[in-house]
Amino acid sequence: MDFLDELYQDVILDHFQNPRCRHCIENAKAEAHLFNPLCGDEVRVMLNSDGTRVDDISFVGNGCAISQASASMMAEVVKGKSLDEIRELQQKVSDLIKGLPAKHVETTDGDSSDSLGDIVALGGVRKFPARVKCAVLAWEALGKCITELEGTAKAA
Ligand code: ZN
Repeated sequence: MDFLDELYQDVILDHFQNPRCRHCIENAKAEAHLFNPLCGDEVRVMLNSDGTRVDDISFVGNGCAISQASASMMAEVVKGKSLDEIRELQQKVSDLIKGLPAKHVETTDGDSSDSLGDIVALGGVRKFPARVKCAVLAWEALGKCITELEGTAKAA
C-alpha cells in the first residue's frame, strides 16, 4: 500500500460514509464536545452508563474522514463495554495512533490486532503527524466522558 492508501483504508471510508451510532442521546449521563482547529473537525460524544459499563453511546460531528470514521469506530466498539475495559482500550488506541507499540499493527487480520478490530486501520495516521489529532479527537472526548462519569460516581 502506498501512503495515502494506508491513510484512507476501505474500512475508514466505510465508517465515514456509513457512520455507526451517529445520533443524539436524550439526557445523556456524560457528554463531551471537542474541536480540532488544525483540521476543522468537531466531535460531540454522548453516553449513558449505570456507573460500571457504557450502556449506550453515540456521537455527532463534522470534519474530515479520519475524525468522523474514528468516532464511528469508537462508538461501535465501546458500546456495552465496562469502564475498565474502555480505559484499557483507549490506551491501546492512543499507542496505536501515536505509533508506540513495537508489535505489527499493519493488517486487520494479524494476531496482535484482534482486540482492536477495525480500529487497527487508524494506525495509518502514524505516518501523517498532522492527522494524529483527527484520529484521537473522538477518543479524547470519550476519555472526558468517562472521567465525568467517574467524578459523578465519587460525588454520589
Ligand atoms: Zn481532520
